[in-house]
Amino acid sequence: MASTLFIGAIRNLNTISRSDNPDFDQANEEFQAAREVFIQNRKARMHNDEELECEKCTIAMPKGYHVHHIDGDHQNNKESNFSIRCPFCHLCEHIGWVGKNRKGVIIYAPDISQENLNLLLLTAYCLEFSLSKTSKDTTEYETLEQLVLQTQSVLKAFEHTKTKVLRNYQTNCPADFADTFLAMSEDEYQQREKNTFYGLRLFFYPDGFKKEIEMFANSIFQISDSRKSNPLHPSEWLSRASIFQNQKKGIER
Ligand SMILES: [Zn+2]
Ligand SMILES: [Zn+2]
Repeated sequence: MASTLFIGAIRNLNTISRSDNPDFDQANEEFQAAREVFIQNRKARMHNDEELECEKCTIAMPKGYHVHHIDGDHQNNKESNFSIRCPFCHLCEHIGWVGKNRKGVIIYAPDISQENLNLLLLTAYCLEFSLSKTSKDTTEYETLEQLVLQTQSVLKAFEHTKTKVLRNYQTNCPADFADTFLAMSEDEYQQREKNTFYGLRLFFYPDGFKKEIEMFANSIFQISDSRKSNPLHPSEWLSRASIFQNQKKGIER
């Protein structure tokens, strides 16, 4: 599947990020105000009070959405420069931060798009969380346990490909890849997926996202019935599990 999301780092050097800005408080206030208007407008257009979708993986989010500055300029708070993202699809564009905070690793998985990998990871981590909150002598527990066992073996296969990355690039730390991206010419950077960095994906670790996983796991049961096609709706879990198995076969080939 063609990916529209590829690991990247913000290269807009004409601007400073909000946290490096001496006028941080004012810049942040301006962003928060613009963000609020943007979200209200987006909800009004969707005729839906609660759920917004990640613009990359399409997961529905009752809350906890990130707003990304598309051009990397954190002072360009025009609505056209905003994009709604789930935490994973947002952080794929800020891999330096992910690496510095040890929230993920670079793997080699050309057969899955980054968007689908993000969905698989989030689904798997939500399943694990749900299992930990389910009492043992219920049929729900058995179903969940089956799914968790399946997803864990698939995730392990994905994660294992980090050794291939280490061999080929001498590192699999996202921060090192971010440094390389920042040193590239614009042309090289735009072509990065086609050339030197083909097939690389960002694999997120659950420990860095405990709050987010709890939030998603708790909210999926509240996603309205009209959104049954949502990839995280429990009715989708069984069909998802077969996708996990096919992905694993792809990796082991
Ligand atoms: Zn997403
Ligand atoms: Zn961003």
